[in-house]
Amino acid sequence: MAKASRASQFVMESDEVESMARESGVSVLELLPSLVKSAKMLARPPISNYQVGAVGLGSDGRIFFGVNLEFPGLPLNHSVHAEQFLITNAGLNGSARIEYIAVSSAPCGHCRQFLQEIRGGSEIKIRITSEENQNPSQTSQLGELAFSPLSHFLPHRFGPDDLLDKDVPLLLEPHHYGLFLAETDKNRHCCNGFGAGSFEELKRAALEAANRAHAPYSGCPSGVSIVDSRGRIFSGSYAESAAYNPSLGPLQAALVAYVAGGGSYDQIVGAVLVEKEAAVVGQESTARLLLESISPGCDFIVFRCPTKEEC
Ligand SMILES: [Zn+2]
Repeated sequence: MAKASRASQFVMESDEVESMARESGVSVLELLPSLVKSAKMLARPPISNYQVGAVGLGSDGRIFFGVNLEFPGLPLNHSVHAEQFLITNAGLNGSARIEYIAVSSAPCGHCRQFLQEIRGGSEIKIRITSEENQNPSQTSQLGELAFSPLSHFLPHRFGPDDLLDKDVPLLLEPHHYGLFLAETDKNRHCCNGFGAGSFEELKRAALEAANRAHAPYSGCPSGVSIVDSRGRIFSGSYAESAAYNPSLGPLQAALVAYVAGGGSYDQIVGAVLVEKEAAVVGQESTARLLLESISPGCDFIVFRCPTKEEC
């Protein structure tokens, strides 16, 4: 099984992947579905109690875990699906591409759509492990043949190429929107939930996350950073979908990083949102709603930034 010393339960380095496959006497592609059960155990779905685990193999040989997150007291569209978690987790760790995904339940329409935001997304190979429980012997040695491309699950797709030029960066590709803090914001201090030093770091983390966002449809990038009572900082970037509704908010993305880091929501003491000034798609209200639900004592500061092109 996974080494206890691993930095995150949600990322496996390529050498660890290879040695685990070797020790288990299986290929890496066979290892992938065998990890789904342990991913599923990490899910946090207090509304449905329906745990979903997804495990993805990146082009660099690393394995990323994803789980579903639900937030009691809030509309269901605040939830994070396991495949969204997986892709966000891969992006946070600098992965350029996910090639194979093993998932405990059939990907819902929302996730099939979200995966379209990755270049060549239709070619991502998917294996649904719940369908194998009845006949495990039939699929245990099939390797790649046990996976089907996303195009099989979502034919006649609507995706980024229906709306964007071909050279526009997609999800998991480098983005930089050129947002920066205005002079007045650079000097803004906060002293409630966190000290001046960590507030600077928090601001910088949210700004960098906003500049890495995937917001080609609205042109309104945003990022959130959160700090917990141990002073640990996590951040996440807004990720839009061509179909709009499957988009993942920046706070949800930061919570993916936080959960992957083993964080507990009630330990979050501060959060910063950076978004574009005069944005037609704003994140403050919805992020505030979610924060108030999971971390009621948390300080929440918002910065609205110009972009370099606008100066
Ligand atoms: Zn889903």
